[in-house]
Amino acid sequence: MRVEAVEILRIPMRLTTPLRTAAGLVSERDVVLIHVLAQEAEGWAELVAQAEPTYSPEFTDSAITVLLNHLLPRAAAGPMGDALALGPHLDAVRGHPMARAALELAILDAQLRHADRSLSAWLGATATHVPAGAALGLHERVEDLLAEADAAMALGASRLRVKIAPGAAAEPLRALRAHGGPQWLLQADANGSFTLDDPELDEIDEVGLVCLEQPLDPNDLLGHAALARRLVTPICLDESLTSLGALEAAVALGACEVACLKPARVGGWINARAVHDRCVELGVPVWVGGMLETGIGRAANLAVAALAGMAFPADLDPRGRFDPDLADRRTPVNGLIAVPTGPGTDAVPDSSQLPPGVVVGSWTPSDH
Ligand code: MG
Repeated sequence: MRVEAVEILRIPMRLTTPLRTAAGLVSERDVVLIHVLAQEAEGWAELVAQAEPTYSPEFTDSAITVLLNHLLPRAAAGPMGDALALGPHLDAVRGHPMARAALELAILDAQLRHADRSLSAWLGATATHVPAGAALGLHERVEDLLAEADAAMALGASRLRVKIAPGAAAEPLRALRAHGGPQWLLQADANGSFTLDDPELDEIDEVGLVCLEQPLDPNDLLGHAALARRLVTPICLDESLTSLGALEAAVALGACEVACLKPARVGGWINARAVHDRCVELGVPVWVGGMLETGIGRAANLAVAALAGMAFPADLDPRGRFDPDLADRRTPVNGLIAVPTGPGTDAVPDSSQLPPGVVVGSWTPSDH
């Protein structure tokens, strides 16, 4: 495939429901899209870095800079039109997995559209529908948390993931458990905000969570291993799992009993398939996490969520995050979301949602 241009679009969008996490309140996203234009087809991907480097070191401005100045020139020096052969050329750039993932996916999307093949089929996914999980933010009042939980469940959520922060985590989780009963699948996500000596972690352990996600600093694998020995609740890692190697190390240390898989955080959809496969081999339950994606990013995550080894519902919030969205957000029916079957990710942005001036960078062969 001959790539003729790559455009980077930046679209400011407001969340329908702001999400408060241990790192702060997110009420808007500068959504970044990569648009690959080739002779044979076009490809699209969403770059999921956040505005500030609080989830990971990568953030929107840095991701765009790395794409334009470091990843695109290296891709152009190699097989630009072949996502599978791109890896060795991009390996010289350390870190920045979200920028890399988006470039690789946009090229792969164009290739798959040209081949009239869906991303899910290419990945080897077998599920035609996947259950939807919802993510609930931090609330000052427990009643507000319960109301948000009820709203998500009413729309078909089959699993609730609750953001928590030190000091007021156990009580809302207990209230949610009492409200929903033992059958509700509850997870909590601390986004690395606790310390190992916090006794509240032992209170949280009493709630009967499916897993406790990223309680400690992402670099503290030994701390997570110690906590995994201390608590009955399985420890899930998110931010710590930046690659297949990071997963291997975390599991070997006993720090990772459940894996949250975000394709962009592990550098792309090809790596994501490898992480999924390794989790299955290791017997580590794996599920797909979200990064507040638009319909473009959700479609690509759905393809991974349809892989056979997924243990828990994916972060594909039935409420959607944007209204209007950039593309069909694929609303669940009876709690199940249909996996896209069209070519590539089966998602392109609605041009009416792309105002003038959103192209903030571009590359063409003459730049090389
Ligand atoms: Mg998380």
